[in-house]
Amino acid sequence: MQSFQPPRRILMGPGPSDVSPRVLSALARPTIGHLDPEFQALMEEIKSALQRLFNAPDHACVPLPAPGTAGMEAAIMNLLEPGDRAVIAVNGAFGGRMADMAGRAGASVMTVDHDWGQPVSVARVEAALAQAPTKVLAFVHAETSTGARSDAASLCAVARKHGALSIVDCVTSLGGIVVDVAGWDADVVYSGTQKCLSAPPGLSPIALSKRAQQVITGRKEKVRNWLLDFNLLMSYWGGEGGRTYHHTAPINALYGLHESLVAIFEEGQQAAIVRHARMHEALVAGLEAAGLKMLVAEKDRLPQLNTVCVPSEVDEGAVRAHVLKHWDLEIGAGLGPLKGKVWRIGLMGASATAWHVRLCLTALCEALVAQEFAADVGAALAAADSRLA
Ligand SMILES: *Cc1c(COP(=O)(O)O)cnc(C)c1O
Repeated sequence: MQSFQPPRRILMGPGPSDVSPRVLSALARPTIGHLDPEFQALMEEIKSALQRLFNAPDHACVPLPAPGTAGMEAAIMNLLEPGDRAVIAVNGAFGGRMADMAGRAGASVMTVDHDWGQPVSVARVEAALAQAPTKVLAFVHAETSTGARSDAASLCAVARKHGALSIVDCVTSLGGIVVDVAGWDADVVYSGTQKCLSAPPGLSPIALSKRAQQVITGRKEKVRNWLLDFNLLMSYWGGEGGRTYHHTAPINALYGLHESLVAIFEEGQQAAIVRHARMHEALVAGLEAAGLKMLVAEKDRLPQLNTVCVPSEVDEGAVRAHVLKHWDLEIGAGLGPLKGKVWRIGLMGASATAWHVRLCLTALCEALVAQEFAADVGAALAAADSRLA
């Protein structure tokens, strides 16, 4: 065997995003024991930094030792018991994954299905909640498979009104648009590290309300997966000083998350959100000047995930292959019903810079011209630059 040397890549797909050198070097610091007092102090600092990032001062916040899907599984498996009713909004791939998990938890699942590219309809969700007593409403705030943003505040409010707990997937939203767990009065909110937090994949920050914690301690039967059972997990992450072995925390991955949180607070959460919005406006102006169209209506677009329609005469995969080969640039393909029909361009965290926007427009126009689609790179860059000035 030989050491693996990854190629140089610029990550502008649906995640992972570019990881900054400061986070990469934090990951390489010496491993210490997970029960070392210094490490326990780091755990406490990460817990309070996550409360600040989620704006969830009264929630229990911890990073789960696995990617974003683990946050989803933890939320669903801890809150739902066999026979409970769950309403799940499905407007893309990740809502569908939540519905599958809720069925595996033994819940009676009602999905509220939407066309891909649409935000979740608050009125249709409310109609589903009104039909029968419901334990949980789950939905995705930022649907990465389509680029649509849903109204988390209104959806959490209808859940409360009908006595349901809310589960909100903020994997792609956290760090890129406003996530306001206290303002929404949301119950379980989870995220991932490799989208707008720009750390490597492998951790899932999660926040649980007091209501959710009470429901979990009062369960009739044990949570069926051991690792993600909050009743056990909180004996490890919960008590300062009184920590007992549960699993071995991914120590170096937590150094990386900690460093990415330091970077976000250095920049300022609001400043980072404004940066994502500006880069999105510049990218869209450039794409439209190049003759391309966006899938999602302007008012529902996510700044950090831009879904671009593939013109009918263009080979979708050949464009991605071109920009990867000639520019080391990764952009995403469509999933499910959008396969072959869209590209997904991420502007997440450290990948949301003017340099990324200009490089992506240049590479994309070159790839389109190679297929005889008349994309004018000069016009695209001028349109983007007018928004960046
Ligand atoms: C990426 C993503 C997930 C899954 O996260 P993994 O880290 O890939 O497990 C879940 N929900 C949304 C909205 C995502 O974008």
